[in-house]
Amino acid sequence: MQTPFYLLDRAKLVQNMEKVARLRELSGAKALLALKCFATWSVFDTMRDYMDGTTSSSLYELHLGHEKFGKETHAYSVAWADHEIDEAISYADKIIFNSLSQLDRFAAKAQDKGIQSGLRLNPRFSTSGFDLADPARQFSRLGEWDLERLESALDRISGVMIHYNCENGDFDLFDSQLTRIETEFGSFLKKLDWVSLGGGIHFTGEGYPLEKLAARLKAFSQSLGVQVYLEPGEASITKTASLEVTVLDIVDNGKKVAIVDSSIEAHMLDLLIYRETAKLPQNGAHEYQIAGKTCLAGDIFGDARFDAPLEIGDRISIADAAGYTMVKKNWFNGVAMPAIAIREKDGTITPVREFTYEDYRSSLS
Ligand SMILES: *Cc1c(COP(=O)(O)O)cnc(C)c1O
Repeated sequence: MQTPFYLLDRAKLVQNMEKVARLRELSGAKALLALKCFATWSVFDTMRDYMDGTTSSSLYELHLGHEKFGKETHAYSVAWADHEIDEAISYADKIIFNSLSQLDRFAAKAQDKGIQSGLRLNPRFSTSGFDLADPARQFSRLGEWDLERLESALDRISGVMIHYNCENGDFDLFDSQLTRIETEFGSFLKKLDWVSLGGGIHFTGEGYPLEKLAARLKAFSQSLGVQVYLEPGEASITKTASLEVTVLDIVDNGKKVAIVDSSIEAHMLDLLIYRETAKLPQNGAHEYQIAGKTCLAGDIFGDARFDAPLEIGDRISIADAAGYTMVKKNWFNGVAMPAIAIREKDGTITPVREFTYEDYRSSLS
């Protein structure tokens, strides 16, 4: 197959899915895939058996979840537009409003169609280390926190969504923050039917105490009398894909730099935004900086090490390319967009999507 391409590994995906299914079984919580993290619908057939449905952050994600995943479909958006709301309600099983004013504006429509409404609750703390991704940042627009305002919605909502974790692999931190939610909001939450705790719990990570998490969620659910939902994005697909690239040129201007047929800006943008380096091979004595082919000076994936000197035409595999990666790819510099392929359990590789010049052209006018 011609590089660049994203390579999804179905066997690894199933390993994650089995953990999701086990957590659901032990805790009674439902798990919805957060499409903003991962929306590669070719593998939804595999994921559907292990998860309860999807949640979304826009009308298009909602449409995709309804069309390609099915099962339970939650609709959330920071702000619905007047022209979107009827269509949104037509796909959704539950619609979650970000603010009291959006609830005021649209809840009656949802009720007319027999759809339950929810509200986003912002507990005003989070585990995010980045201001950019911190829903509890100063002046945050993400959700309501005033108890009086929340209580005023009770006649129209059946639940709330509380998204406040971010790649949180620390169970004790999760436990103590959930206790804080119980203390500060427990009497309000008891009046609801369901509570979504959002995404960001890294429970599929190696060594994560899945059983403890399940017991904690079950206790939360039972003490408040609510159905718990989780919205795993990254946890669902972590370590299930790579970005496969080829070395096009090697230059040495004080450091050996291998230029590949891809771009961190265009194909792994999330790493650049959060100032992280790509997960590259790190074994061997031969060190190279791996850089992209756009004209952006800082289009650099990071440093890598190899057993033998690199040669033009060598293939490099960049790990962990599923979450917040394929959903963010773009046409910067007109660089060829990576195809998407799936490695089946028997090792065969099936291409599922290729992008062409026509796709580039039709993305603009
Ligand atoms: C981003 C997001 C998620 C998924 O987060 P992950 O960290 O990928 O698990 C879930 N719910 C909401 C509301 C989100 O904004």
